[in-house]
Amino acid sequence: LSGVRAAVLEAFEKPLEIRTYPEPNELAPGEALISVEIAGICGTDVHLWLGQLAIPLPNIMGHESAGRIERLGAGVERDWRGEPLAIGDRVTWASSIACGECFYCRVKRQPTRCLTRKAYGISYRASDAPHLRGGYAEKILLRAGSAIFRIPDTVPSEALIGAGCALTTTIHASERAPLEWGETVVVQGTGPVGLAAIAVARVAGAGKIVAIGGPKLRLGLAREFGANVLIDIAELPGIEARRDAVFEAVGPYGADQVIECVGHPDAVNEGILLCRDGGQFVVLGQYADAGNISFNPHTITRKQLRVIGSWGFEPRHVDRAIRLLERDAGLSEKFARGITHRFPLARADEALQTARNLTGGKTVILPNEKADAR
Ligand SMILES: [Zn+2]
Ligand SMILES: [Zn+2]
Repeated sequence: LSGVRAAVLEAFEKPLEIRTYPEPNELAPGEALISVEIAGICGTDVHLWLGQLAIPLPNIMGHESAGRIERLGAGVERDWRGEPLAIGDRVTWASSIACGECFYCRVKRQPTRCLTRKAYGISYRASDAPHLRGGYAEKILLRAGSAIFRIPDTVPSEALIGAGCALTTTIHASERAPLEWGETVVVQGTGPVGLAAIAVARVAGAGKIVAIGGPKLRLGLAREFGANVLIDIAELPGIEARRDAVFEAVGPYGADQVIECVGHPDAVNEGILLCRDGGQFVVLGQYADAGNISFNPHTITRKQLRVIGSWGFEPRHVDRAIRLLERDAGLSEKFARGITHRFPLARADEALQTARNLTGGKTVILPNEKADAR
């Protein structure tokens, strides 16, 4: 057996190194060896590279990937939905495995807060056998208990990874903060999470969606994904002006739901301001700890706000994301078009730096592609 190449984060803020790991000899029951076709670079990966979240090093990042089944361990016959699985099938998988036994898994049914949850591309030390637990590699070895999904032929891998964990994360958030039909929604931020939140709010029955963000290209995308009203933060740099614009769009009381997809703590005060009394404020963008802000909790009490956090997603949200893309070819095509930069594995570090500096578009690694970046 030949070795498997992977791009490895060995020290924070240092270039990714290409390392070769042994290919597993024999698969244990329940395992699956996947040849990685495409690995998305998520904004979280940039935070991981910067050392803003506690992860073990060395680390093979990559938690949103798709590929083809190369080998299956005993007992892996069907995917998470019960469809038959075979060698060569194109698949994706939920990035994490919850234990199913702890307080949050069993009693509170919030497996995204599982006490021992481990995520591919995040939680595994690459120096520990069997090494291959991230998407920035030619192959990934999925553990027994992984939620694997066969990708329908009509859903291109680029659509799925273009949507990435932003789509599954916003589907989870939408479930935690359900809309009533026809409600008004403000989405703060037009990055990948913001665009996905707009698409999901549209499907979930939003009556009117206001997107606050920029630059112009991203606002154009926001309109394509379903936003009815666009507010350019460059044109309206003041919070008061933005509030006036939002209230003009949604009516004099504010929005039924505001979804924060910015990641900057200051966005939280503005989001609260934009909610109507009794409305819902979903804080979805604060994935990395970006520090404290000063805010007045009196507003939460007085406005009777429902403030909702949401972290990651469960396998069923991956299922729903795939079904959404399968049903909506137009949306699928928009997500696929969002991928603007593609790199082979050898240039993984350049890919990461591109993602870090990019204001629009998505960067992916094609680990088994030998050609130069397109
Ligand atoms: Zn992610
Ligand atoms: Zn658990």
